[in-house]
Amino acid sequence: MSQSTPNESDSNTPGGNTPGPRKNQWVNLLVSWFIFTFVINIAINFFSSSHRMEIEYSQFAALLDEGLVKRVRFEDEYLLIELGDGANLDAVARILTPSETANRPRSMGMMTPKKWREHLRENRVFYTGKVDDPGLNGRLLAHGVDFSRSIVVHSPIVNFLSSWVVPLVIFYLIYRFISGRLGHMGGMMNVGKSKAKMYGMEKSTRVSFADVAGQEEAKESLREMVDFLNHPDKYRDIGARQPKGALLVGPPGTGKTLLAKAVAGEAGVPFFSLSGSEFVEMFVGVGASRVRDLFEQAGKNAPCIVFIDEIDAIGKSRDNQAQMGGNDEREQTLNQLLAEMDGFDSSKSVVILAATNRPEVLDKALLRPGRFDRRIIVEKPDLSGREAILAVHAAKVKMDGGVNLKEIALMTSGAAGADLANMINEAALRAVRMGRPAIVQEDLTEAVETVIAGKEKKDRILNSEEKRLVAYHEVGHALVSALQKHSTPVQKITIVPRTMGSLGYTLQTPEDERYLMTRGELLAQISSLLGGRAAEEIAFGEKSTGASNDIERATKIARGMVTQYGMSDGFGVMGLESAQNQYLDGGNVMTCSEETGARIDEEVSKIIKACYEDAKKLLSENRDSLSRIAEYLISEESITGARFMELLRA
Ligand code: ADP
Ligand code: MG
Ligand code: ZN
Repeated sequence: MSQSTPNESDSNTPGGNTPGPRKNQWVNLLVSWFIFTFVINIAINFFSSSHRMEIEYSQFAALLDEGLVKRVRFEDEYLLIELGDGANLDAVARILTPSETANRPRSMGMMTPKKWREHLRENRVFYTGKVDDPGLNGRLLAHGVDFSRSIVVHSPIVNFLSSWVVPLVIFYLIYRFISGRLGHMGGMMNVGKSKAKMYGMEKSTRVSFADVAGQEEAKESLREMVDFLNHPDKYRDIGARQPKGALLVGPPGTGKTLLAKAVAGEAGVPFFSLSGSEFVEMFVGVGASRVRDLFEQAGKNAPCIVFIDEIDAIGKSRDNQAQMGGNDEREQTLNQLLAEMDGFDSSKSVVILAATNRPEVLDKALLRPGRFDRRIIVEKPDLSGREAILAVHAAKVKMDGGVNLKEIALMTSGAAGADLANMINEAALRAVRMGRPAIVQEDLTEAVETVIAGKEKKDRILNSEEKRLVAYHEVGHALVSALQKHSTPVQKITIVPRTMGSLGYTLQTPEDERYLMTRGELLAQISSLLGGRAAEEIAFGEKSTGASNDIERATKIARGMVTQYGMSDGFGVMGLESAQNQYLDGGNVMTCSEETGARIDEEVSKIIKACYEDAKKLLSENRDSLSRIAEYLISEESITGARFMELLRA
C-alpha cells in the first residue's frame, strides 16, 4: 500500500471479488510508460543520427559542384546527401575540413583530413538543413545526381503510432518478462494467469515427529490431525466434526513451523504454506487473491496441510486498528481467509495450521468454532527438552565422544530450539576454524556464549581501570551467590567484552529447572544481582553504570514478590497484579488503587535495600576472597565455576 511499484497487483484473476488496483497504481503505470517511451525516443533519435553527420549547406554546394554527390533526397526539413561510390575521399575531406567545428557529433572531436577519410570509408550519407536555393534543381540535373522528394508521408497518426504505441508494446513485453521473473507477484496484465508460486508448496516435507525433540504435548495433539488425514473415514463414520484448524502458539524459534511440517511429513501429504509477514508489503487485493489461490490449490491436492505462519500479521484484531482505512489490505486478506475456512468443503481432508507468538492480538473471528478453535501451546524447552533438542541437532554433525550435552543444556536455560540449533552450528563452525575433525566440548561452550551473549569481540578493549571495576563487579555477583544459603552454582565468570551490551558476565546455572521458588531463594537471587554494585562500592567506594541491568532485574523480582507472590511484610498474601498473558511481555495489569501503588513501591524498595545490605555485608566479611578472586580474574579474563570454588576455599 505504501509502496508503488506498478507491477504488482491482481485485478484480472477470474472470479476476483477484490476491487481493481488503486488509482495511483494506474498513474504509476502511466508515468513509467511515459518515461520509458521518452527514453526510447531519445535513444532512437540519438542512434539514428549518430552516424549521419550534419554538414553546412555551403559544403554540400561545394561537394555538388565537384561532382562528388550521387544522390539527394528532400525531406521535410533537411536534405539527405549520399556520396558517390567512387568519390574521391581526399577531395571530400578537403571540402569538409575547414569548418570542422560546426560538425556534429562533437564526440568525434576535431576532424582532421585523415580522420575524415576513415569516417568516409563507412559513412557516405550526410544531411544539411534546407536553404532557399532556387537554382538547386538545375545544378542537380546538371551533375547527373539522382534526386527525389521523400514520399513517406509522416502523418500525425503514423508519428504517434511509431513513437508511442510501438514503445507501449515493447514496454508491455518487458513488463511481462519482468513480472514473469518475479514469479509470485502475479501481475496487473497477467491475463494468462501464469501463477508462478504465490505460496510455498512442498510435496513432501521429509520432517517427522522424531525431528522435533520434546514438545510431547504438542505432538500428542497433532497426532490426531495426522490420524485424521490418514483415516478420514474413521472420523466421518462416527460423525465427529473433523478438526479443521489448529493454532500453534508459542515464542519464536520453539519449533512451530517445524511441527507443522512434521504433521505433513508424518501424514505423507503435501505442505502448502504462506507467511503472514509477507502480506505487510503487499498491494491491495494481492493478499486476498493469494489466500484464494492457496486454498484452491489445497482443495485440488487434498489431503494436505495448509500452514499460515505468523498469522498475527494478517489476523490482527480489526477493532484495534486506530487508523482509518489504513489496513484494508490486511482486512481483505483476513476476510478472505475466514471465508475460505468457512466455505471449505469439510469432506476434503485439508488441515489448516497456523502459527503465532502473539495470540492475544488475533481477531476473535479467527478463533471461532470451525476455524482455529484449537490451540496447541509450543513452549520453550525445559532442561530435558533442551538436551533432547541438542541431541537431535548434534546427530547431524560430527561430535567428539567426550561431549557432554547435558552441561550445555544446563547453561542454556531460556534458549529456544532455534537458539540451540544455532549453537550446534556455531560449534561446528568453530571446530572447522580450529582445524578439528569433530566438535569438542569447548566449541560448544564457546558457541553458547556466542549465541547467548553475542559474538566475542576481542577488539573492544577495556582499559585497565575499567577492567578492574568489571572484575570486582562480576566477582561480587559470584561471591554473593556462592556465599548464601540458597546459592546457585557459578558456571563461569568473564570480563571479556561481548557485543550485546553487558561488559562482563557471570553465568549461573540452576541445577535443575525451577518452577517453584521460595521467598529465601528469591531474596538470594536479588542479593546476587545487587552483589555487583555492592562489590564496586566496597572495593572502590564508587558506583558505575554497569549495574543498571542488574538493578532492573532485581527490581522486577522484588516487585513480583510484593504484587504477585504475596511475600512482602507490608501486604502479606494479597494479589495486586495479575499476569495477563505469558506471551505478552511485561503485560501485567494492576488491580489496585494509586495509593496502594505508592505503597507497593515502598515495599519493593524496602526489599531491595535489605538485599543490598545483605550483599554488602557478605562481601565485607569476605573482603580477602573478593580481592583475591578479582585479581585472578583480571589476569585470566575468565574463570570457570570450578576454579572459582577452588579460589574461594583457598
Ligand atoms: P518457530 O516457527 O516456532 O519460530 P521454527 O520451527 O522455525 O520455530 O524453528 C526453527 C529451527 O529451530 C528449526 O528449524 C529447528 O532446527 C530448530 N528447532 C526448534 N525447535 C526444535 C525442536 N523442538 N526440536 C528440534 N529442533 C528444533
Ligand atoms: Mg516459524
Ligand atoms: Zn552485573
